[in-house]
Amino acid sequence: MIIIKFGGTSVQNEEAIGRVISIVSGKLKEKPLVVVSALAKVTRLLCMLAEEAEAQHEDGVKDLLRQLRERHFNLAKNLLAERPKLLENCLQDVERLISDLETFVGGVCMIGELSPRSEARIISTGELLSSTIIAYAFNANDITCHWIDARRMITTDDHYLYARPDLEVTEANIKRIVGLESRGADLILTQGFVASTDKGVTSVLGFEGSDYSAAIFGMALDAERVEIWTDVDGIRTADPRVISHTGKIDVVSYEEAAEMAAMGARVLHPLTIEPARKKNIPIKVLNSTNPECEGTMVVRGDQAPDGPKSIAFRDGILFVKVTSDKLEGVTNMLGKVFATLYPRRIPVTLSGATESEVCLVIPEEVGGFKEAVEELGSWASVTVFRDKALISVVGRGIVGFEGIGDKVIEVSGKVHMAIMSANMMSESFVVDHDKLQVTLESLHEYVFKEG
Ligand code: ADP
Ligand code: ASP
Ligand code: MG
Repeated sequence: MIIIKFGGTSVQNEEAIGRVISIVSGKLKEKPLVVVSALAKVTRLLCMLAEEAEAQHEDGVKDLLRQLRERHFNLAKNLLAERPKLLENCLQDVERLISDLETFVGGVCMIGELSPRSEARIISTGELLSSTIIAYAFNANDITCHWIDARRMITTDDHYLYARPDLEVTEANIKRIVGLESRGADLILTQGFVASTDKGVTSVLGFEGSDYSAAIFGMALDAERVEIWTDVDGIRTADPRVISHTGKIDVVSYEEAAEMAAMGARVLHPLTIEPARKKNIPIKVLNSTNPECEGTMVVRGDQAPDGPKSIAFRDGILFVKVTSDKLEGVTNMLGKVFATLYPRRIPVTLSGATESEVCLVIPEEVGGFKEAVEELGSWASVTVFRDKALISVVGRGIVGFEGIGDKVIEVSGKVHMAIMSANMMSESFVVDHDKLQVTLESLHEYVFKEG
């Protein structure tokens, strides 16, 4: 069995879904379980819908629902034009999902209150809609596709918007349900991103979470591999939307891919690696607009070469220094700082400590940050530097690669923090936001000049 996951751009319209059908058709012998995201930009539209409802903007709500209907109705009509009966059934299913959403959003709009639970319910609709239409499209192409609601399989805690699965329960659910539904099917189709709590309430796995769903299905089904189909030729030496002339990475280890994701490379969701590594299942990153390209294999560390793999970055970060006027010791400093950050679940991308200072990299716009700074201010002086960016060179053996730090200082003019990750998979630098682009370009050229 293999898992094939298609992201939003890979299912965004009729042509893209045509490519999906052709890619999957060539793999039916491998018994695929196909995982799909919402159509490109639909999750964003649904987030806006939730906000407009909370703000009680009835006109905004109506307009967004109209756009949602139009996009999905048109897609179904284009895909199923030659199969009127299938089209009729598909439009009924799509309409049911959208009118249920309309009723629900009407309730939110009436009370003007949006809980994470309600928001998860609203944004889960994108994957339910896309997967419904794509299932009809497969059947219209005479491929027997069984659609399964992922909420029956992935069981999570009740952090509705960033829900974490109970992997044991989830694995048992997936094995049982996929086992039953596979009978008589050429393929199984389900949704990424969506899940439900053990009480059956809809939850989602966090933005970009469909990659994670695919890896969970792979782990549960002991898949031969997990294929992540996206809009670039595999994992590259940097984000090709930001740097020109990037190179494709042929093979990368689980640890390096996880480090890249943690340091901001969007190509794989940070949690994707863990379930795959658990069962040593290779992940292949492929391009749905260029299926001939071999893509990138993500495999066990001893099967991947050493050396720098990629440059990742995070823009819009806060660089925070917490300084005590006493020599507290590293344990005290870290203990006291995290005693404030942990209860607020403030995400820390990087940290470094000395006996009297802790430096932190934190995403901008984090809830609870202001209160945390006030609390820390009761015993330390806290300085928050804005308009900073984080640049990380990722790869096993990076420690032996000379000149990276010198290059960053030379180009950026000022490095606010430099740190090697504890597993020595990455070396990271905090620089000024306005020096990000030029530093990325020079560093990329320096590290990958041969490529
Ligand atoms: P999908 O909708 O298929 O999940 P995403 O937009 O989430 O696609 O991820 C693919 C995008 O990741 C690419 O278009 C690219 O801009 C970005 N990206 C960031 N870093 C890298 C990298 N190192 N290699 C390839 N793509 C990257
Ligand atoms: N549709 C969700 C999002 O846009 C999940 C995903 O695409 O991975 O974040
Ligand atoms: Mg993605």
